[in-house]
Amino acid sequence: MSSVKLCSVKLNDGFFMPMLGFGTSAPNKVAKSEVEEAVMKAIDVGYRHFDSAYLYLNEEEIGRAIQKKIADGSVKREDIFYTSKVWGTFLRPELVQTSLEISLRKLQLSYVDLYLIHIPIPLKPGEELFPKDEHGELIFDTVDLCATWEAMEKCKDSGLAKSIGVSNFNHKQLERILDKPSLKYKPVCNQVECQPYLNQSKLLEFCKSQDIVLTAYAALGSNSGKEWLSKNNPVLLEDPVLSAIAARHRRTPAQVALRYQLQRGVVALAKSFNEERIRENFQALDFQLTPEDMESLDSLNRNIRYFVDPLVNRWDGVLCGHPQLMPLSLCLPHRST
Ligand code: NAP
Repeated sequence: MSSVKLCSVKLNDGFFMPMLGFGTSAPNKVAKSEVEEAVMKAIDVGYRHFDSAYLYLNEEEIGRAIQKKIADGSVKREDIFYTSKVWGTFLRPELVQTSLEISLRKLQLSYVDLYLIHIPIPLKPGEELFPKDEHGELIFDTVDLCATWEAMEKCKDSGLAKSIGVSNFNHKQLERILDKPSLKYKPVCNQVECQPYLNQSKLLEFCKSQDIVLTAYAALGSNSGKEWLSKNNPVLLEDPVLSAIAARHRRTPAQVALRYQLQRGVVALAKSFNEERIRENFQALDFQLTPEDMESLDSLNRNIRYFVDPLVNRWDGVLCGHPQLMPLSLCLPHRST
């Protein structure tokens, strides 16, 4: 059996996604060479699912790491589950495949396992990832995301992406895609911030009802001091309930935070470039929380977002082609994540 199938969830298109993924987004000040080393270590530890994006500007390094581990016989291409994402400046339908081809060239891969719409926010196409006008305001674009989705479907048909999905979509935005006339493929997943303080229980329920996997980013509370994260939030990994559960199981708070997601059927991403923590996080796969632990963790839900409140409901304006409804703050949290 391919190692992608181990501890994996079956997607609605028949492919398998490993439940624990390795996050690769780091603040710009972190040298890109660190991600290459980290991905190689992660492969050695056992991770097979890697999450990146055009926006992260690290696909060359990740590609090199994967190629090296294939060359030394550690893995085969089919053992790896690689996710990339199309950024907001490429959401016009004619640009979607171009963006994917750029990522694939950097990665030295012939396909990605999963391709996501990174944000439901079209931005002015061009070189700038955050195009701004003379007043420093972001310049949005008017794109019907249903047309973007059709371009995503073509990426799947061409074999450049095995599966396709979305990220940072709310319930209504997902419905717009699901209700699209002549929908060919449903999104296989929706990747959103999800951690015990923001457990996304309603969105999770909706996703499950539609056979869409919810993938959690910032599952550890994104404890990285990134400048665009909300300040003054409590540190998730210092939460007393999380810490007490961890102590009872002789585990760490990070392992409990990840295990919580896995046991509720959520795919969890964890970023670490530190060898010990890379290993520690992977061990979230090998223990079990009790139903009482799960209940206590559920009770931590309190609508705390580490990524600045994206006011997701207002994103509907974008789907309808009214980008002016979208506040500037929506894009900033995603600058290099
Ligand atoms: P995260 O995984 O919740 O947290 C990462 C931070 O936690 C890093 O600072 C890391 O530092 C630290 N950490 C890792 N393991 C730890 C442990 N065992 N104990 C204590 N601290 C630990 O946050 P994230 O990177 O924001 O999110 C994960 C991934 O999701 C990203 O890398 C990216 O791939 C994806 N993502 C996607 C979106 C989107 O819009 N779709 C947005 C954000 C993130 P060290 O490296 O020093 O260990």
